[in-house]
Amino acid sequence: MNNKKGRLFVVTGPSGVGKGTILTKFFENNKNDVCYSVSMTTRKPRPVELNGVHYFFVDEDTFKKAIENDEFLEWANYSGNYYGTNKNFVLEKLNNGINVILEIETNGAKKVMEKFPDCISIFFAPPSLEELEHRLRGRNTEDEESIKKRLEVVKSELMMIDKYKYSIINDEVENALNKLQAVYDFETGNKNE
Ligand code: ADP
Ligand code: 5GP
Repeated sequence: MNNKKGRLFVVTGPSGVGKGTILTKFFENNKNDVCYSVSMTTRKPRPVELNGVHYFFVDEDTFKKAIENDEFLEWANYSGNYYGTNKNFVLEKLNNGINVILEIETNGAKKVMEKFPDCISIFFAPPSLEELEHRLRGRNTEDEESIKKRLEVVKSELMMIDKYKYSIINDEVENALNKLQAVYDFETGNKNE
């Protein structure tokens, strides 16, 4: 019987910085004792996104009912859409000794950091604002209005950088991935004991 609780990781940073890219690779290399928390959102799915894998895609009424039913650990309205983390899923995994990674925007991250002072917060920063815009546009998933909304909040997101336990500049994917792995290994005792 494993009585050790899982650790809660909060990964945040501006849209387009590369959080999803780095985490996808991270999960290819880390298959045991760690899981990704799939959020609920009212955003429309992108062509490559699958319901239940990338998000649980719902309409606004369903999301608001979930708020009323206290289903979220945190939720936020970002760029005109709602996003929220399922509370029961996260708590159950942590109680069963599984580490959980939340990939959420900065307002939600702040709420989780207040509720869970022991969580491990990681901020991904871009090498420059120009490169961030280049990546966001290059991803080709957002219309111009959504790109503008996402870029509008970047400076305020970056101003909070010293509130996180770790910050990682995503210059090269391999570089950032190695740093995330080092943080994960250190914080979980993986390969360090
Ligand atoms: P986020 O999940 O933070 O919104 P994504 O992972 O979707 O960001 O990455 C945004 C775009 O930037 C994608 O097209 C991705 O391929 C690209 N990208 C991610 N990391 C890097 C990097 N280190 N160098 C160049 N391009 C990157
Ligand atoms: P996207 O629309 O690009 O998938 O996500 C937009 C932003 O919402 C990203 O910064 C992403 O990390 C964040 N996000 C995804 N799920 C959640 C969630 O459950 N809660 C909060 N607060 N943010 C989320």
